[in-house]
Amino acid sequence: MAGQTAGFGASSVEARGLTRRFGGNTVLAAVDVTIPASSFFCLLGPSGCGKTTLLRIIAGLDVPDEGTLRIGGIDHTRTPAHRRPTNLVFQSGALFPHMNVAENIGFGLRTQRNMPKSVVRRRVAEMLELVAMEGYGDRSPATLSGGQRQRVAIARSLVRRPDVLLLDEPLSALDLSLQLRMRRELRTWQQETGTTFLCVTHNQAEAMELADQIAVLNAGVIEQVGSGRELYEAPRNRFVADFIGENNIFDGPVGDSVDGVAFPDVDGDGLEAFAVRPEDLRFVALDDVTSRGTGVVRTASFTGKSLRVGVTTVTGRELLAELAPSQGDFVPGQKVGIAFAAADVRRLGRPVRDQVQ
Ligand code: ATP
Repeated sequence: MAGQTAGFGASSVEARGLTRRFGGNTVLAAVDVTIPASSFFCLLGPSGCGKTTLLRIIAGLDVPDEGTLRIGGIDHTRTPAHRRPTNLVFQSGALFPHMNVAENIGFGLRTQRNMPKSVVRRRVAEMLELVAMEGYGDRSPATLSGGQRQRVAIARSLVRRPDVLLLDEPLSALDLSLQLRMRRELRTWQQETGTTFLCVTHNQAEAMELADQIAVLNAGVIEQVGSGRELYEAPRNRFVADFIGENNIFDGPVGDSVDGVAFPDVDGDGLEAFAVRPEDLRFVALDDVTSRGTGVVRTASFTGKSLRVGVTTVTGRELLAELAPSQGDFVPGQKVGIAFAAADVRRLGRPVRDQVQ
């Protein structure tokens, strides 16, 4: 759907079989992903999984060894960066130090031939308003805070009205409270322009807050694509369960289920695995569990909203329980029985990455 601000574009991005190798190292292994037009899409994965490489291929700063890339339905696999309907915002958001804020934002427009000065001025003013920096046009970048500089960097990319705005870890250089505020702002700018935003991040909370859809990347392979809620509630495999939120992951089968209550079985061979959310774990009387369902409290902390209790099981596994404060106090060294409702068990498949090797 088009945004509320007129004149902005939006395109879908379709990667098919994108493969990139550096030396003998396969950094992207036949990546298939479809990013819908006008969506906020996040590529999420740990350091070194290939996120930036994929973003650079979409931006036209790198070329895949195999596969195709379509933007807005047009094959752009080998189109030079400056001829693509994309624009990339770098992590540092480096601005030209000798230009003021307005000149920085207008820079990309002034290099476009035949753009009347009045149009440049209007578009720059529109951008200053969008990123809530009216009145800052004459300021030098050196006088801005980190968050303000990043706002200007994003405005400088958006002013060219790309169909797809590419963002590489755009908030990682900011302190946490500013990150939280700017997540909401980024989301608002995407909605107001209707432009497709594709953001690379290793921060799952950030991806969950920003994105309509998230692709979880693991060593060059996409493990799962879905909304934050889908990934949280139905992780397809152990990698996704581990990366999204704070799952307790058990190797081996679920133990006996009595009246809908289950207990962890002995850790098995890893062929079967399941996950239980910290908020779904509960502690029961020791009499109610067999020895394999017991653990020892290691840490207990009160966060205001909840009680977070770390437990080590008899098999040496570290678990985390998030309990309502009304559940009482737990002290390190205390023995507890561990249980969960059978309905809260999420069975996990093998990561896709393990299957392609
Ligand atoms: P980070 O979050 O740390 O930036 P990332 O997921 O963005 O990680 P990439 O930057 O895409 O990861 O890098 C993926 C792998 O490819 C890394 O092992 C990296 O060392 C390697 N790599 C990236 N670019 C090159 C290059 N030009 N030459 C050789 N190896 C490269």
